[in-house]
Amino acid sequence: MCPRTHRVELNQWENRMMKFETFKSIIDEGVKYGLKAINLNNFGESLFNKKILEMVKYAHENGVLDIMMHTNGTVMNDSLAEGLIKNGLNRIIFSMDSISKEIYEKIRIGAIFEKTVENVKKFYDIRQKMKSKTPIIRVSMVRMKENDHEAKDFKNFWGNYADEISYTDYRNQDGLDKIDRYTKIKEENKSYSCPALWQRMTINATGEVTACCRDAGKRLTLGKYNKDNNLKSIWEGKILKESRILHEKKQAYKIDACNGCDHIRGMIKPDKIS
Ligand code: SF4
Repeated sequence: MCPRTHRVELNQWENRMMKFETFKSIIDEGVKYGLKAINLNNFGESLFNKKILEMVKYAHENGVLDIMMHTNGTVMNDSLAEGLIKNGLNRIIFSMDSISKEIYEKIRIGAIFEKTVENVKKFYDIRQKMKSKTPIIRVSMVRMKENDHEAKDFKNFWGNYADEISYTDYRNQDGLDKIDRYTKIKEENKSYSCPALWQRMTINATGEVTACCRDAGKRLTLGKYNKDNNLKSIWEGKILKESRILHEKKQAYKIDACNGCDHIRGMIKPDKIS
């Protein structure tokens, strides 16, 4: 399910973690300019980062109000749960995708269904025991051909262990998935203008900055964050400036990354879950 590992020839993703020092300087600079929200993800499992608890604590203590994390939940354990809750994580999203062992393990290769379910339930219990209202717990499902028939039961399965249940439509990141998993016909939307370019930056473990978290092929790379190239200069840089102009003119399809994105190639409307 991860575009990072989907195609060997992408070969653009080093298997490494962001260093604490890099994270710290991002927060320091961001906070100076009013940074209030971070999402500790991009094509990787943040719970593998040995410094993750310190990172959450640092961001929390330095004024970031909304610290959010997606996880597949496979390596969640008691001490990580206690640390995340205590250190100020505001939202956690468990990507579960299925309520049956067979489908779950087919989608999430290498994960063991019973173990992950237990990890998520335990996380909920620990939060209750610690009498904490945060992090808000969301369990999410990406709707695709393989699991769509489970959508309604998914809500019932997780209802007692989550504050929110969410559904997202499957999207084919950069067209890397050769299997058609869409549940509906998509409609092309060439005139789409994307808010992401004005809202956020995605900083990868290596310091490469992309415009958004959808760009698995790193086609809209804005620069490399380092001592000589800070976030402000990337945010105000030529590439982002020119991209914003194209989006404003409804010509986003002229940008390779955006043209390959589902926002342009077409969104599908999910059914209501009753
Ligand atoms: S790739 Fe998609 S999400 Fe990213 S900036 Fe372009 S249109 Fe927006």
